[in-house]
Amino acid sequence: MHPKKKFGQNFLKDKKILGDLTNLINISPTNKILEIGPGKGDFSDFIINLCNSYYGIEIDEDLLALLKKKFPEKKEFFIKRDFLKFDPKEIFGSGRFRLVGNIPYNISSPILEWCENHYEQIEDMHFMLQKEFALRCSGTQKTSSYGRLSVICNYLYEVEILKDVEREYFEPKPKVDSLFVRFLPKMKEIDKELFKNLKKVTRVLFNKKRKKISNSLKDIMKDDVSDLSVDLNLRPDELSLKEYIELSNKLKNYA
Ligand code: SAH
Repeated sequence: MHPKKKFGQNFLKDKKILGDLTNLINISPTNKILEIGPGKGDFSDFIINLCNSYYGIEIDEDLLALLKKKFPEKKEFFIKRDFLKFDPKEIFGSGRFRLVGNIPYNISSPILEWCENHYEQIEDMHFMLQKEFALRCSGTQKTSSYGRLSVICNYLYEVEILKDVEREYFEPKPKVDSLFVRFLPKMKEIDKELFKNLKKVTRVLFNKKRKKISNSLKDIMKDDVSDLSVDLNLRPDELSLKEYIELSNKLKNYA
């Protein structure tokens, strides 16, 4: 069976690496685990017997057949579905679960959006990501990867890079390197209104990345910026998360 590029199939075969990743996730028997794209089941093999409740969501029916053959006693726990359209309530009700996966890199952003939509149910996420994408997620102020994605991810999660995984370990070998990353939700639930404004403010400001923020803020706040403690001469990538939150709070008045 040829790997399908459209499904972002790059399989991780190395048992030593898979063992290391599994240790980093630190699974306990009571955990409920949801794996995105189990593929040929190599990672699943490490995880599946460590917890009482495991489900894998795989889009490719050829791989699904393979998975059911590989894990005959667990075959009902592999579900053929587009993860992006999958509702976790189907299997976990309103219970909490942990998400893991060597995910298809072409849908990394939509997967993070899925996680936003199910934020309250997610205990944590452990994802293999393309290195540059991972660095943007974890980026901090004034580093070259710092951008809109960093602000949003840092608002929602403690983002921690756990391990470098070189391209040699994947099959077929991709053109990019990878990082294994933990996302730990910071809050019980998302303040929807603030978050909407944070998305807006980061979009508007980072659209003009080289301009002073006073420039872009005019468009969304008129002249009502005098009582802000944020220095209006800064550029978007010089602002901290705290300052972005202040701007978002201010924006609440402009619904
Ligand atoms: N976890 C495996 C495979 C990683 S490759 C391993 O480490 O070896 C990514 C996997 O995600 C592939 O199996 C691919 O078929 C699957 N996939 C791609 N898009 C998907 C989607 N929208 N929903 C569910 N699975 C998807």
